[in-house]
Amino acid sequence: MLLGRRVLFLFLILALCVAPATSQAPPTAGSVDFEKLAIESTDWLAGLVRINTTNPPGNELAGARYLADILQKEGIPSEIVETAPGRGALVARLSAGAFPDPSRALLLLGHMDVVGVDPSKWSHEPFSADVADGAMWGRGTLDDKGPLVANLAAFITLKRAGLRLNRDVIFLADGDEEQGGDIGIRALAEKHWDKIAAAFCINEGGSTVVQDGKPRYVGVQAGEKVSINYRVTATGTSGHASVPLKDNAVVHLAAAIEKLGNWETPVKPTVLSKRYFEGLADVEDPELAKWMRVLDTPERQDHAARILSAANPVWSSMLRNTVSPTILQAGIRANVIPSEARAILNVRLLPGELPGEFADDMLKVVADPQIRIDIDAMNSRPSPPSEIDTDFYRSIVKASRVVFPGAPVLPLMSPGFTDSAELRVRNVTCYGLGPFPLTEEEEARVHGDNERLPIVSIRPGIELVYRTVEDFVRAP
Ligand SMILES: [Zn+2]
Repeated sequence: MLLGRRVLFLFLILALCVAPATSQAPPTAGSVDFEKLAIESTDWLAGLVRINTTNPPGNELAGARYLADILQKEGIPSEIVETAPGRGALVARLSAGAFPDPSRALLLLGHMDVVGVDPSKWSHEPFSADVADGAMWGRGTLDDKGPLVANLAAFITLKRAGLRLNRDVIFLADGDEEQGGDIGIRALAEKHWDKIAAAFCINEGGSTVVQDGKPRYVGVQAGEKVSINYRVTATGTSGHASVPLKDNAVVHLAAAIEKLGNWETPVKPTVLSKRYFEGLADVEDPELAKWMRVLDTPERQDHAARILSAANPVWSSMLRNTVSPTILQAGIRANVIPSEARAILNVRLLPGELPGEFADDMLKVVADPQIRIDIDAMNSRPSPPSEIDTDFYRSIVKASRVVFPGAPVLPLMSPGFTDSAELRVRNVTCYGLGPFPLTEEEEARVHGDNERLPIVSIRPGIELVYRTVEDFVRAP
């Protein structure tokens, strides 16, 4: 009996070994032909770049119709939501069940609009999608049409693979991001929340940084600063310029701007920036790494922050609230002392900082009763950072280990703002990826001249997004 069972067991093992894989088993990321997908994605991107969606006026509906055609060929229905004439977004959904469950859904978000160009400064036509010198040239290739197409490729691949999903996956291509999102993400969130409601989101905002020819780290944006414009007003006595006055508004404004522009604001490392520097220390030059590791030590924090801030202005802005004077206005005639002079400061506050309190702090720095400081505009919505101890974050880490082995995943708090702020206030856990590996020089072309996406970066970028998504949404 015992022997008989053993024989049967061996036979079963043998049968399993020689049995062909069942044809019903859905493929995994390991069986996706990423090389082929990269070629398709390059075509999709070229078509999208050739649609001029400079905002203003935006013209995103042309982009939405283009994406709807691509999805339709894959048998995926989509909906175009018009938020203003010629403006809007495209939404499509892969459902996990009969009823949408927004408390679990994953949103793949990218924006179709782009910032303007000065064509005379470009070596290729900015809406040509020309491929030359190993790159695709064009406004939007990096921000944000490239990442949007990486989302599209992941979405389409999920559909083609026929995976059973543990949550709905929503693809959203929106607009008006570059002008603040009033008729983009804000309009969608306020008027069409049922179509896009999700618990998790992948959006722009991160970066995969290449140094010395290899990916150094994968930065995942998990929080962002708030952008606020403050108006500084100096008042004084007006008069003839031939009789100089001590309370000259121009002089008082200039002194205030000098103080605020050079103000070394207090260091306030956040949970995210501490995690960022801790991780970065493992791959950074040991001299600097030593200071990154003591940012959490109160006695050495200020000194460490000073050294890191001097080494890199981006690090400086991650560690504190910042003030950049950007506009000065005074005077109407060369021989008239004006009674008023004004300036605009662009301020980026860390999450949780109070705009009114920061205005009071600035007034203390200026210490001049002739100066008034008011909020001129809230450019972005204050939002809490996203938690990083989540399965979704771990899916990014897992995917990154396969695609960019040896490069750590670091959480970022970006000084710039994205559509994610509007979602984070609605309790959506948002992570910003910059899936395409880029050098700092390439990354700096975002919003600048000669924006381009290196062709070799396309495959790893789409692979990172697909592997992340598949790991997170695949039902067991
Ligand atoms: Zn963008």
